[in-house]
Amino acid sequence: MRELLRYAILLFPLGACALPKVGGAPLAPMDRAWVVPTLQLYQEWWSRTEACSGRTGDMSAVTFYAVDSPSGAISLGRDVAHGWWLREGNRIYLPANALGEEWLVRHEMLHALLQSGSHPNDVFVRACHLASAAVWRDSTVTEDSGKPHGR
Ligand SMILES: [Zn+2]
Repeated sequence: MRELLRYAILLFPLGACALPKVGGAPLAPMDRAWVVPTLQLYQEWWSRTEACSGRTGDMSAVTFYAVDSPSGAISLGRDVAHGWWLREGNRIYLPANALGEEWLVRHEMLHALLQSGSHPNDVFVRACHLASAAVWRDSTVTEDSGKPHGR
């Protein structure tokens, strides 16, 4: 039962996020991680994210890491999410098995483009539909009920 509960907790509330502040916070996930080369696909996703957000940025300034996380959950200190953008070093961490998950990758790209850890509805939901998997699936959603606290 306890295992089941843990599994449920890992599966549901997870979003993708950004680390707010560097002071005192861990600077990298504890799991094994490695740099991934950005493929043509990522350049396309970056361009699309630039287009929907109206922001422009240089993707080569961002380092993408794959994290060895079969569950798809990446812990950063006491927080757990499917993906992370860290302002420090302009780094994005994604589960190795989710490198092709468009909404997740582009969610973190959007943080990098905005250089902000917050999730303004106008961009994350209405303009780009990247707030969550649910928002991604249903483009008529205008508010993200599972919105992570802006941080
Ligand atoms: Zn986020």
